[in-house]
Order: sequence, then structure tokens, then C-alpha cells
Amino acid sequence: QPELWSDDFNDFICKCLIKDFELRPNVLDLLQHVFIKQIVGRERILQKQLIELIDLNQQIGIIEKTRHERIHTKKGSQMKSQSDPDEVDDLATLEVLDENTVTEQLQSRYGRDQIYTYVGDILIAVNPFHKMEIYTPQHTKVYIGAKRTANPPHIFAVADIVMLYLHYTTLIALTSCVQCVVISGESGAGKTESAHLLVQQLTVLGKANNRTLQEKILLVNNLVEAFGNACTVINDNSSRFGKYLEMKFTCGGTVVGAQISEYLLEKSRVIHQAVGERNFHIFYYIYAGLADRKKLAHYKLSDSKTPKYLWNEHIKLGPDIVSNTFYKEQFDAVEQCFKVIGFTLELGSVYSTLAAILNSGDIEFSPVASEHQTDKSNISNISVLENVASLLRIRSDEFQEALTSHCVVARGETIVRPNTVEKAAEVRDAMSKALYGRLFSWIVNRINTLLRPDNHLGEGEKGLNIGILDIFGFENFKKNSFEQLCINIANEQIQFYFNQHIFAWEQDEYLNEEVDARMIEYEDNRPLLDLFLQKPMGMLSLLDEESRFPQGTDQTLVEKFEDNLKTKSFWRPKRVDLGFGIHHYAGKVIYNAAGFLAKNRDTLPADITLLLRSSENELIRKLVTNPLTKTGNLAHTKGKGINTMRSPRTPTRTITFSGEHGDTPYHPRETTNMRTQTVSSYFRYSLMDLLSKMVAGQPHFVRCIKPNNDRHANKFDREKVLVQLRYTGVLETAKIRRQGYSHRILFANFIKRYYFLTFHAHEEPAVTPETCAAILEKAKLENWAMGKTKVFLKYYHIEHLNLMVQQAT
Ligand code: ADP
Ligand code: MG
Repeated sequence: QPELWSDDFNDFICKCLIKDFELRPNVLDLLQHVFIKQIVGRERILQKQLIELIDLNQQIGIIEKTRHERIHTKKGSQMKSQSDPDEVDDLATLEVLDENTVTEQLQSRYGRDQIYTYVGDILIAVNPFHKMEIYTPQHTKVYIGAKRTANPPHIFAVADIVMLYLHYTTLIALTSCVQCVVISGESGAGKTESAHLLVQQLTVLGKANNRTLQEKILLVNNLVEAFGNACTVINDNSSRFGKYLEMKFTCGGTVVGAQISEYLLEKSRVIHQAVGERNFHIFYYIYAGLADRKKLAHYKLSDSKTPKYLWNEHIKLGPDIVSNTFYKEQFDAVEQCFKVIGFTLELGSVYSTLAAILNSGDIEFSPVASEHQTDKSNISNISVLENVASLLRIRSDEFQEALTSHCVVARGETIVRPNTVEKAAEVRDAMSKALYGRLFSWIVNRINTLLRPDNHLGEGEKGLNIGILDIFGFENFKKNSFEQLCINIANEQIQFYFNQHIFAWEQDEYLNEEVDARMIEYEDNRPLLDLFLQKPMGMLSLLDEESRFPQGTDQTLVEKFEDNLKTKSFWRPKRVDLGFGIHHYAGKVIYNAAGFLAKNRDTLPADITLLLRSSENELIRKLVTNPLTKTGNLAHTKGKGINTMRSPRTPTRTITFSGEHGDTPYHPRETTNMRTQTVSSYFRYSLMDLLSKMVAGQPHFVRCIKPNNDRHANKFDREKVLVQLRYTGVLETAKIRRQGYSHRILFANFIKRYYFLTFHAHEEPAVTPETCAAILEKAKLENWAMGKTKVFLKYYHIEHLNLMVQQAT
């Protein structure tokens, strides 16, 4: 055994690697593994060796890429589209870069079913709206370890890059490392599909030798989507929550687990759906599935009378649901997922809870006719109430009381007050929403427990982490409510992150290195974030303040907004009573504040909570007793300093989040206390939590574009695409990337790698910018730049140099 890092050792490794391609991943794994084991707990001494290892890796990379190229030329005709000579895979390479050329390029590529295009290292994906034959096992193979320009742009190539970064940055940083893929775009643009494809490819790259784990990770998506997705007017499978999926890898790059964080489930959908929309998928699945198994009666459902919560006169679903074979199949699939993932005993309870929610919607109230008390209500259909009570395993008399009355404590005495019909219906709906929301969180938590990788990682190994963010896109409907406001604020924050990353950090590096780069102007949405998130005068703070006033109404809320928000981005449109407008980065949106306060307070009356806590069903008790930490380990993030975070790329720069100065730590939502945390403060917290995860990592961006509003294949609405390109910053990105230098290599590394192209092997040229320049000039390259410590190169320079290396060896 040669001594680690001796010349013999390097030689030995090199030989292994070069001789046997198939062995290469294993040797590299071993190397990294051994290496990491060696330095854990020791001083950071091995910088030089690290660089050598990476160099070695890259040398080998070149060889391997050549091998791939050979494969591709054989398969060439299959893989490469018959591309137009004027078409480019990377828009950042275009000579002329304006709105027209970019859209033209995308359109012409789209016409040839080239849905993917690069803009520098960002991938643009235009939704094809039809099945594409580009995700086959053959494609999976071809994209592994391949040179970026060897194949048409593809989401699989992103998976590869992410993996590569994971390996390299781990070696450099010597710590556990996070890669983060941010998938954005408007609803129906293809985010969720892209996320699936990415996970699919990553599980292959992650060499999940444990097939069940691989299967589980892929299944989790389906399960969570059955509960969190719904049919909307825009997308038949629209995600009604934000999802951050983290895949965990060992230092050797084997996938060993996954964790999901969910954000902002649109609970209001349980009780009401807009025209042409539906409830969450699972309700239809379970309804049809139970009917198929003749189990409806057991769950107190009837096949002739559709539950109100599912009943949408605009789609005339009615009894069609029970006979829908698609729903039945989906139900079987969901059940199968549950079982594979490891849910067994609880399934009956999950179904009971869902059935109880469905039944609840049918509980009706009528006013009690009495001379003195006109504000009292009664249950009109007591049998339905009894059904719900039996499904929830609670006492029906207590349930009736909890719905039709509430307790108030005045001067130490508890007084029972009756509920009006409206109030009783509100309590009923609040219970349904709460049960569903908590059920969803519970399922996600359970999945996380089952997929937690702790057992697989060796001691001292923190493991590596790839996060994939699939979050609802920007929304602008005819009527926009509290939900849209939250969703759009989240998008605003993600855009800010994108801007920070792409523009500001890019410019900073140029400045630090004193490389001349014309300052790029970009739309900074920071003022908007301040408008929403600043304390105490931001929109969310004002909303919280008003929510705490017992006398507050939606009217007083908008007035408060108007009095306090003095900016061009906020205005009150005339003739819309509770309306207010916001000029978002993605466009102007008119919101209607009706229901804002109630939605923000989102209280589940204490009587209902206490009652549910007395349930004989363990799951129900769990849902209301244990305030679930919704996004996994939220409580731990306190003190990690989410106010300012270091970017891993440029350690000198920090990113700050609006309004996060002295933020209150997270408290799990207390259920009985009426002065509980509001939805907006919880939202603010989870947004910061999400961002803290993202900022800790190296980001990669996938921008999904919707080519038309009709979901038609082969239809490219230029105006529509242009709007999306504009507001996602793709156009500016193209510019900065083109001007920019994709590779920045330290002088020493550059010289070490390429000196033999210019100098004799025995020469030892000085580590100076002049030596670098000499090499570049000899290679007849232009348009590079010399920084203070690094050579700034465009990616085609690198390709050219590597080709020369290959020819020379
Ligand atoms: P989003 O998550 O952005 O709202 P989805 O990912 O759900 O959008 O995509 C909406 C629909 O578009 C999908 O149901 C599918 O029919 C179609 N679609 C999206 N991406 C692709 C793709 N790569 N190939 C084929 N169809 C796609
Ligand atoms: Mg989606």
C-alpha cells in the first residue's frame, strides 16, 4: 500500500482509473471515502492534496467524457435533433441577445420538440403538453457523466451536474454539503414533472443499491401528491402546497434517505372549491375506492349521495365519482404506496379521518325558532352528526354541543354561549380544515421518520444533501385572496434569492477579482419584500396586528394597509370595496381582502380541540394533541442565524432577509390558546426556514415555461412566453452569463493542468498571470480575463483546452 498522496499513490490511482472505466466510480468513491475518513477530526492541512485530487478527477473526467463522446457519435443520430444551424443549446452563446432572439430560439426549438434549453447554467424547460420519448432508460444512461455539449439540453443533465458539484464541493469544503435545485414557473408550467424526473435520475445516479429505498423515494411523491394536489382550472394535477424534498447521500454518493418539508397547504380547498375546480385528489380516490370494495357503508358514505365537499355543480360530478375507474386505480395505487412506505396499522384510521371530513361537510344547521333567542342553531340532520362522531370516535352529544355553542370565560366564570347557524357552520368547516391539514402534516412526518437516513450513515459522516424545491408558482386569478397573497410572497422571496445569486454574487466576484464587467441592471424586488415582511410596518405584521383586535374587520384591515403602506407598489383600486393592488415582480395583482382576518386567525375553537383530544382513536388524538412541527425540525433552526447567511460561493457576501431582524422563534401552534400564532406568522417562519436551507447550499435553477394557456401541444404563444421570460429574469440572466465567465481557475491550478501545452514537461513555469496568459495565447484563445488570483474563462475555452490536452496525451 503506497503512502497516501505519495507519487506512487497518485500513480496507482491514476492507473486504476484510466485502465478501467467501469471501475472508476468505485475507485473514486473509495478514494473520497478513505480521504474523508482520514481528515475528519484532524486539522485542515490537505488543501494541496485536495486540489490535486480534484485535478486528478478532472483529468479523468476528460478521458471519460471522450468515451461518452464516442458513444454519442455512434448513437448520434438518435440523440441529437436535426437542429437548425442557427439554433443553439445555450442561449448565453448567442451573438445577439434580445427578447426577440430568445423567444425565436425557444419557439423554433419547441417546434422540433426540443423543450430544454440552457441559459448558461440555468435550464429552461418549456412544457410540451404531450408525452415525450426522452426519458427512457437509454437517455438515463447517455446523460450520466456526459459532457454538457455532447447531448441536447436535458433535465437529466442537471441531475448530473448537481451530483458532480456534490462531490467536488464536499472535497473542498470538507463538510457536509448541500445542493439545491430550485424549480420555478407558473402553475401548470411543469415544475412537478421536472421534480419527478430529477428525482428519478438522481436515484439512478445515487446508485440506490437498496431497491426498496429507491422505490420508496419515488413513491413518496405520489403519496404526498394524492393528498396535496388537486384539479384546478389551470392544471389537472396542481400542487396545492410547496414541497422541498431533500435526498440524502453518503459521502460515497449513495442515496440513503429522503426528507420532505411541506409549506402552505391550501386547506380552504377542503371546504370550498372555485368554479371548475375540485377538492384534493385523495377524497375522490377514497370515495371511489371504498365503493369498489363495498366499504362505503362502513365509512358512513353513500354511493347515491355525493358528499357536499366533493359536490361541485359546475362539473356535475355527482355519482360519477363512485364508478370512476381511474379513481379506483389511484386508490389502489395510494394504498400500495402506503404499504410500501411502511404504513400498515394506521390505514384504517386515515380512511376514517378522511370519511369523517367528508361526512362533516353534510352536517346542516337550522335556526332555533324561539322568541328570545334568534341566534341559536340546531343540527338539522342529527344522523350525519352521529356518523361523524362515530368515525372520529367521539361522543355525539358533546360534538353537537361543541358545534352549536362555545364557552367564554368572563370574570372567572365559564359561560356557554350559543352559536348562530353561520357560526356553527364555520366551526364545522374549521374542524374539517384543521383535521385535513394535520393529517397531511402527520403523513409527511411519518414518511420522514420512515425515510430518515440515520441508520445508513457511518459514524462521523454527516452525509450529503440534494434539495429539490417545487413550489407553487406565481398566481393571478380573477379573484385573489389570502392564499394567493402568501403564494406570491413566497415567489417574491424566491425571485429575490435568484437575483441575489445570479446577479449580485456574480458581480461581486468580478469586483473582488478586479475583472472588468459592465454592471448589469436588474429589477431588484427588495422593496417589495420589505413591503410584505418588514416589522412592524410590513403587510404581514399589519395583518397580524389587526387579527389580534377583536373589533378588527377586513374593512379596517384594508384601511390600515392604506394608511401605512406608502409605496407605488401598493394601491387601492376604485370601485372594489375590499380590494387592494400590489405590483409584484411578475405583474400587477388585485387582491380582495374579504375573509383575510378569519383565514389568518384560522382558529380551531377550544371546545372542538378538547373534544377531539378525548377521541378513542389514537390517530385523532395525535393530530390534535401533539402540535406537529410542520416542516420537520423547525424548532432546531433557532439561533442558527437565519438573519444573515453566508453564501457558500463567496464567503465575503451575506444575504439578508427582509423583516427578519429579531424575529420571534417558532412555537408550535398551540391549539387551545386563542391568542395563537397566526397563519401569516407561521408562513413567515416557514419561508425563512426554507430559505435558510436553500441559502446554505449551492443553488441550481430550472425555469419552467408554459407555452400556452390551453394546455395544447405544439402551440407556442410568444407573448405569453415573453412575459414569463421577462419576469423570471431569464433575459438578464442570458446577458450576464454571456458576459460572464463560467470558469474561474486559480493560477496555480490552471498552470498545473495546462502548462505542458506550452512548456516542456521538465520546466517549472512561475505561478503568475503571465504564465497563464502565455498558455492561453498559445492556444489561440480570446475573450478571457485575468483576475487577481484566477483566470476567468468561458466554458468553450475549457472545452477547447481539454481537447488539446486530449490530443497531446
Ligand atoms: P406545475 O407543477 O408547474 O403546476 P406540472 O408539473 O403539474 O405543472 O405539469 C402540468 C402538466 O403538464 C402535467 O400534468 C403534464 O401533463 C404536462 N407536462 C409537464 N411537463 C411535462 C414533460 N416534461 N413531458 C410531458 N408532459 C409534461
Ligand atoms: Mg406542481
